[in-house]
Amino acid sequence: MPTPQLIDPFRRKVSYLRVSVTDRCDFRCYYCMAEEMTFLPKKELLTLEELDRMCSTFIDMGVTKLRITGGEPLVRKGIMTFFQSMSRHLKSDALKELTLTTNGSQLSRFAEPLAQCGVKRVNVSLDTLQPAKFAKITKRGDFGKVMAGLAAADKAGLKVKINAVALKGVNDDELHPMVEWCGQRGYDLTWIEVMPMGDMGEVDRLSQYWPLSDVKKQLAARWTLEDIPLNTGGPATYKRVKETGGRVGFITPLTHNFCESCNRVRLTCTGQLYMCLGQEDVADLRAAMRNHEGNEALIAEIKAAIARKPKGHDFDYSRRVIEGEMSRHMNHTGG
Ligand code: SAM
Ligand code: SF4
Repeated sequence: MPTPQLIDPFRRKVSYLRVSVTDRCDFRCYYCMAEEMTFLPKKELLTLEELDRMCSTFIDMGVTKLRITGGEPLVRKGIMTFFQSMSRHLKSDALKELTLTTNGSQLSRFAEPLAQCGVKRVNVSLDTLQPAKFAKITKRGDFGKVMAGLAAADKAGLKVKINAVALKGVNDDELHPMVEWCGQRGYDLTWIEVMPMGDMGEVDRLSQYWPLSDVKKQLAARWTLEDIPLNTGGPATYKRVKETGGRVGFITPLTHNFCESCNRVRLTCTGQLYMCLGQEDVADLRAAMRNHEGNEALIAEIKAAIARKPKGHDFDYSRRVIEGEMSRHMNHTGG
């Protein structure tokens, strides 16, 4: 069993690594990407072998949970080879959980192979149950394909959690239908506040911003919400909906600061390690890895990075201006 070596200055144990395996995506969700995105040249990306080396080093240093994200992780060529290779860490019990966040578009093809690699749960991002609205939000997404992907996930025995970004004027009319739909299917549902990631051109974030305090109020007026002591090690807080038996979670980076229990760091597809989603400080792990044959330099760089993990982020809409806005897009850091 690897000994935990990743303790930050605030005595938080870093045991959760989120890895973006590509900045590319087959969708263009308007709150995430601009219509015209310039993607990274392929040589900038970590190869699948490098991703393996990087993740295996973190696992050796005590990371027990790995979440693969993007861009859209399932559009990365050869990604199943990487999942297959990571499954060895599940078998050895060094890794407790291997999971991914996906838009669901490729799940019909990959749900079964993912389950065979030991993936037990997937987060699928879905902001609406209306095909026309879905097409508008994602710009190039096919609602039918995502539904087929969800059916394949169910068939493969994967536990599904739906992530929905709360968007005022866009999906605020679907709060209750989404709760009902997820409840019927046995899916947990997590609402996420829209975060100020990347310049969105003409899109006005303040007008989209739907605080989850209001979402909760509306939910409580219609459903019986029960407290549950569920600690996922993540930023979401959960309630049980008595009528459906399902769980509804809230990720509130703006109205509630969840940083005190943060156990995670994020690796970009180019091997940059962000110690906090909402801060610019970054460690270049790719250089430490590519320039040295052994892993000593990489391990030293990881330790140095964890030693400067900040206490928290500074996103703030409260004064009706966007403070703490990040210049990078979400598909770069990985959501
Ligand atoms: N493509 C995959 C997907 O959509 O699930 C994985 C990557 S995506 C960047 C991860 C999550 O970030 C998605 O649930 C997405 O809705 C969320 N996201 C993207 N941009 C966001 C923003 N500006 N604010 C809040 N959540 C955002
Ligand atoms: Fe792609 Fe996910 Fe961003 Fe949508 S949220 S554009 S699916 S990376």
